[in-house]
Amino acid sequence: MTLTVAYTVRNDSTVSTFAYARCLQRHVDFPQFALVRDGQMNRNTNRIFHGLLCSAEFSFHTSRKVVVKTFHSTTQLQHEVAVYARLAHLQGTHIPQLLAVYSEPGDEERGAIVLDDVGNQVGLVDELSYGSLSFRRDALYALMQIHDAGYELRDSANRIPIYNFKGRACFAGFAPAVQVSCARRRNIEPGSLEPSSEHFGCWEIYAMCVSAHVWAPDIFSFYERKAYTSMLSGDMWSLADCAPRPVDPREAIELAYEVAEFYAVQCNLPDLARLACNLRQNGNTERYVEHSVAVARGYKPYLGEFRIFEHLAPHEMRSDYAWPRIDRPNGALPYKLHHIPQLPQPS
Ligand SMILES: [Zn+2]
Repeated sequence: MTLTVAYTVRNDSTVSTFAYARCLQRHVDFPQFALVRDGQMNRNTNRIFHGLLCSAEFSFHTSRKVVVKTFHSTTQLQHEVAVYARLAHLQGTHIPQLLAVYSEPGDEERGAIVLDDVGNQVGLVDELSYGSLSFRRDALYALMQIHDAGYELRDSANRIPIYNFKGRACFAGFAPAVQVSCARRRNIEPGSLEPSSEHFGCWEIYAMCVSAHVWAPDIFSFYERKAYTSMLSGDMWSLADCAPRPVDPREAIELAYEVAEFYAVQCNLPDLARLACNLRQNGNTERYVEHSVAVARGYKPYLGEFRIFEHLAPHEMRSDYAWPRIDRPNGALPYKLHHIPQLPQPS
């Protein structure tokens, strides 16, 4: 069967026509022709045209918006078609529906695919940082399914094009995609502490989780200094050491325990709460104070505070995925400051 895909280019009388002798794959029933009219060239590439699907003689057959993507290499065409075939269960929701595939045998390799037009891409960072929670979850779900089907998109996380297709997160353009089995080793628990990328396993999904702010921010301000939730393990001395030199070490280590308690409540981590409790009771505070040269030098007590960085707070968090998880009356963070008795000054 001979199938033809043709498109007209708006504002240009040129009618380009591909007549391909072989149809590799066809997902919808075009009688004989897949015609795309009023095509508009994508600004970023001369190989992608947006247009309207129509029947023979260029009369409108449907208002279905489609994209014609042309290839100058059969290898690239077949690669992209293979990805769409492997991800068939995601077509129409998380990736565009592949409507038709054409290839032209001969010396001059070329071909084309016709896809549903999923609109303009939205940048990953822009959309995932500030988009709705449901969209961010949808995007993560889509990427995980693509990985589970055996493909990575293999682009820098911020440059993976993501589309909003009828409210669903959608990926398209699989030229750089590679077949690989996903290396992620743990589930994504929204609101929990951010794991290390090594512990998580899959770099691409990890990067998107970070962009989408699904985990509690791993950076917080400790006495106006940058500190990390990874410092909440062990004896927490590394966190207390972040305090500036005038700070009383007893106060600093106590505030470290409070940070741990804060995250323990927010992220539902009873082990972290138990750790802070044990450290208080087993003499860790005294050991830290003795250890600290600050005591010997008589630095003045200093009541500090910790807070999450405003710009790292998740946006539009709602429902059970909201972070922080507990109510914050009047926007106040649920931490309290202990009053630390002033230490005797050295003579
Ligand atoms: Zn993966």
